[in-house]
Amino acid sequence: MKAEIIAVGTELLLGQIVNTNAQFLSQELAALGIDVYFQTVVGDNITRLEEAIRIAQGRADVILFSGGLGPTQDDLTKEVLASVLGTELHIDRMAMDKIEQFFLSRGAEMTENNRRQALSLKGSTPLENETGLAVGDAIAQDGKFYVVLPGPPKELKPMFHNQAKPWLLQQALTDEQPIYSKMLKFAGIGESALETRLLDLIESQSDPTIAPYAKEGEVTIRISTKASSQTEAMTKLNAMELQIQQRLPQHLYASEDIPLEKKLVDMMVARQLTVSAAESCTGGLLMESLTSVPGSATVLLGGVVCYTNEIKKKLLHVPASLLEGDNSPGAVSEEVARALAENVRLITDSDFGLSVTGVAGPGFAEGKPPGLVYIGIAERDRKTEVHELRLNGNRETVRLRAAKSIMYRLWR
Ligand code: ATP
Ligand code: MG
Repeated sequence: MKAEIIAVGTELLLGQIVNTNAQFLSQELAALGIDVYFQTVVGDNITRLEEAIRIAQGRADVILFSGGLGPTQDDLTKEVLASVLGTELHIDRMAMDKIEQFFLSRGAEMTENNRRQALSLKGSTPLENETGLAVGDAIAQDGKFYVVLPGPPKELKPMFHNQAKPWLLQQALTDEQPIYSKMLKFAGIGESALETRLLDLIESQSDPTIAPYAKEGEVTIRISTKASSQTEAMTKLNAMELQIQQRLPQHLYASEDIPLEKKLVDMMVARQLTVSAAESCTGGLLMESLTSVPGSATVLLGGVVCYTNEIKKKLLHVPASLLEGDNSPGAVSEEVARALAENVRLITDSDFGLSVTGVAGPGFAEGKPPGLVYIGIAERDRKTEVHELRLNGNRETVRLRAAKSIMYRLWR
């Protein structure tokens, strides 16, 4: 079964609202095993809506509409669908009673417009609106299935769950198998490097399918399969995960969609470890990531955003000889990263002291190129580690990658 979602609304085309209804419906249909092949957005316009419906009829078996069921003249989804299907609209008694009741209880006057929200296609199954007034519609004609839902998400979601979904299931559309997916999360490797390492798998594999994508400084792979049961799906997905893991054992940190900071904080809570940070170019991003995780209070003791040399000297006791003068290594250097990490650890008496100092860009600093970052990890009773990173991307990306990078080293 192929499905198409038609979201109706000029404000969607103008970019004033985001089409979250299409996202919601796509996820729901995938879970039912109905493949969404197209998502269409069309304005509140009779001719273009009619055109969108005719195109959808040519390429989909199930067509879902969102929006345009309201009382005003620009709400015309049902009128246009009725005309394309060659049927008429009539008043749905239940919906009408509800609307009358609504106005009566408020002592407000009902206008002719409001009656429009009780209109339903002849021969359809009206879909009750539990959280609003406009009635929805479900109708089968010539082997095609149409579902009409209201625009406001708080009305569309319950109507889909409680009315449309049971109707779709009843039409026996879903003899196909549902899609199951698993998310794998990677750190310490970029999207393209990861794809290269898995290219033969990605290209030769059609079940499960493998789809990598990068978001917020992390790389995610979604592996998906169709199966008749959860157990069958998990067997296939786990076998694929194992193959991927064998290729990238250092980088796979979770088999669910959780951020690296959560993995790290959970590990440190379990081992009762504490951490502190001295951040220059990340300006607190590292500490912000860690504190976003519930439970981080027992892990992160505190830290300093030491943006200027003055603060590096005053609060973290970095020797002036490392920061100033023609022969000094400068703030963006291995030596300063080491001093920052060691001193913040000593001052806070934590198990780990972390430091980040670098050039976020866009320009050069101290004659050093944007993307050059030093990260330091000082550990109680161990030798301090400092890594030089050459990061790509704009200012935001460099800062984000620097923060993720240090969390990755610590997690490993
Ligand atoms: P109403 O009775 O409110 O007029 P309606 O069914 O006619 O409902 P629209 O007029 O198309 O729906 O949209 C009403 C509101 O619903 C929009 O202003 C917007 O807030 C929300 N909405 C509409 N379409 C979408 C969509 N595709 N995704 C997310 N929200 C939407
Ligand atoms: Mg409307």
